[in-house]
Amino acid sequence: GYIVFEGGDGAGKTTQIEALAQWLRAQGRTVLLTREPGGTDLGRQIRELVLHGDHVDPRAEALLFAADRAHHIATLVRPALERAEIVLQDRYLDSSIAYQGQGRDLVPDEIRGLSMWATRELLPELTVVLDVDPVLGRARRGDVHDRLEREADDFHARVREQFLAMAQTAPERYLVLDASLPRDELAAAIRARVAPLIGA
Ligand code: C5P
Ligand code: MG
Repeated sequence: GYIVFEGGDGAGKTTQIEALAQWLRAQGRTVLLTREPGGTDLGRQIRELVLHGDHVDPRAEALLFAADRAHHIATLVRPALERAEIVLQDRYLDSSIAYQGQGRDLVPDEIRGLSMWATRELLPELTVVLDVDPVLGRARRGDVHDRLEREADDFHARVREQFLAMAQTAPERYLVLDASLPRDELAAAIRARVAPLIGA
């Protein structure tokens, strides 16, 4: 059970991932709730560097996210999956393809290749995309906290298009939901899709 949540800033990923974790735990399931960047001690240091640096060269940024990912998957996520835990993860390689690839004008396929190398090709069973209009996302996240949230709406619009394009290439591995729907409605739709995956 490896389920990833993706979507633009302000989409409500944190709210939904926590609601799903609570539902699964209430059924006695063991859940690892984790995130990128920053799911490990090393990752939290990388997160500081990449989000709070003044300027980071785009290729350096891509490598820092990939380094966080490699360590996170090797030391936390794979071991949990091997123990047959359910892993719920806030952001994964699609975020890199969208932000570092499409957003930053690097080549999305190269960024995918970098992530595949970093993770020894670990892919989730399901990716939930909370699709958010960049203007709504900006309003929702309120005061900006980091360098990347300050990017212009057209950066976030490119990121959004990339998430949607990836979902379209493999609809069986994606659930795309309109992030402007009421949160209970979103949570119910997510549970309905996840339940058969984990035998609930
Ligand atoms: O999801 P979270 O808010 O923790 O992400 C922190 C910041 O890093 C966000 O502004 C997000 O847009 C950015 N990010 C990124 N590339 C990734 C993952 C996150 O630019 N691969
Ligand atoms: Mg954020």
